[in-house]
Amino acid sequence: MEKGSLLSTERPTLAGLDPAMLGLPFYEDRHAELAERVTAWTARHAELWRRPLPSPPAEHGRTVLRELGDAGLLAFLHPAAPGTDGDLRSLCLAREALAYADDLADFAFSIQALSATPILRHGSPAQRERFLPGLAAGTLQGAFAVSEPQAGSDLAAAATRATREGDGFVLDGVKAWIANAGTADVYAVLARTGEGAAALGLSMFLVPADTPGVRIEPADLVAPRAFGHLHLDGVRLGADALLGRSGGGFAIALEVLDRFRMTVGAAAVGFARRAAHSALRHTRSRAIYGSRLSDLGTVRAALADMDVRLNAAGLLVARAAWEADRESRYQKHSAIAKLYATEAAQSVVDDCVQMFGAAGLVADTITERLYRQIRSLRIYEGASEVQRDVIAGSLDLRRAQQCGAIFDVDRES
Ligand SMILES: Cc1cc2nc3c(=O)[nH]c(=O)nc-3n(C[C@H](O)[C@H](O)[C@H](O)COP(=O)(O)OP(=O)(O)OC[C@H]3O[C@@H](n4cnc5c(N)ncnc54)[C@H](O)[C@@H]3O)c2cc1C
Repeated sequence: MEKGSLLSTERPTLAGLDPAMLGLPFYEDRHAELAERVTAWTARHAELWRRPLPSPPAEHGRTVLRELGDAGLLAFLHPAAPGTDGDLRSLCLAREALAYADDLADFAFSIQALSATPILRHGSPAQRERFLPGLAAGTLQGAFAVSEPQAGSDLAAAATRATREGDGFVLDGVKAWIANAGTADVYAVLARTGEGAAALGLSMFLVPADTPGVRIEPADLVAPRAFGHLHLDGVRLGADALLGRSGGGFAIALEVLDRFRMTVGAAAVGFARRAAHSALRHTRSRAIYGSRLSDLGTVRAALADMDVRLNAAGLLVARAAWEADRESRYQKHSAIAKLYATEAAQSVVDDCVQMFGAAGLVADTITERLYRQIRSLRIYEGASEVQRDVIAGSLDLRRAQQCGAIFDVDRES
């Protein structure tokens, strides 16, 4: 494939991405090919993103999932897949392009990948064979259920119990704020098995949605999606429901979250770019004071700041994904990417609404939808404050001391 042809800024099918970014050394030709496939798919399926939606968001999310599966965009979740499409650079590019097109596209894709990843990385051959082909085809839907009413940021406090009974387990508790609750076919559930205190006593289970004792309490958020609380009342599972080793559930949850945080940053870039494009088009065409809105100095400055934020966020996401794919210590970079990109996207979307004035607040317009959709990204998979904690905990004092020893000797007593 000729790389230049894919990376041309004239290429309409890369709509939603920054084509020049794909030319950076972070990426390989296969990433440009994937970007091409995803953006072409979002453009071909414009009818899926049109408002009003043809069915309630939860149902529509399932339709979108089937379409993603049919197009092969979830194939990297198959146990027999060659595997390269599941690298973090690919996941981030896909989320960025899907988020640009529509919140539900990103939602369907990301929750499927989030819930399949623990099975891909830690599932037994039987678990992988049972769940992954359906998840990769989009015919099965997954959910990742770790949060609880009293254990969100502090996941180690999870209290849902998994009591041993014979060869198996009985689960009792509530998992809160679960994406795909009510539509998922299988839930990856974090529960307390008690091998040790706090984080050391948690295990991960795969719970089919039709297991007796599973009940869903729907919850409506500002951006409508399949969402709710998962009640587990005496849910009996065989020993084969345990994912990974007993007592290893917290490590699995943390690994998944560390990997996916940068992808939340990527989605934020997609939402923000959609807002920035809307803002640019609007301000260039809006007549005001005998001129155009985009001619006002403060508006020009705000448009420039949007672009700076977008570029910075995109680069931080690319760096985090590149670090993860080369298996270096990427956790800090994942936290940086999520923190910066989600906070930046919030401010880009807010500025965009401001530039539209009252028109920006009309229900179910793109500006109003983005305003509602962007908010949760600063909370889920670790609130911004949690990311700051992670980053602060990873600061390198030794390096600061080494450099200080070279340059600051005369000033330090
Ligand atoms: C749209 C959406 C989708 C979600 N999807 C899922 C899902 O699929 N599966 C799942 O398991 N969970 C999911 N969640 C839950 C999400 O992971 C939790 O909401 C998140 O971890 C925060 O937990 P909490 O809501 O209990 O808030 P709390 O933990 O009570 O925190 C509240 C606030 O306290 C502050 N805070 C927390 N920790 C610190 C700290 N260390 N330092 C300083 N301040 C701090 C932050 O401002 C934080 O927002 C989802 C949430 C949302 C909004």
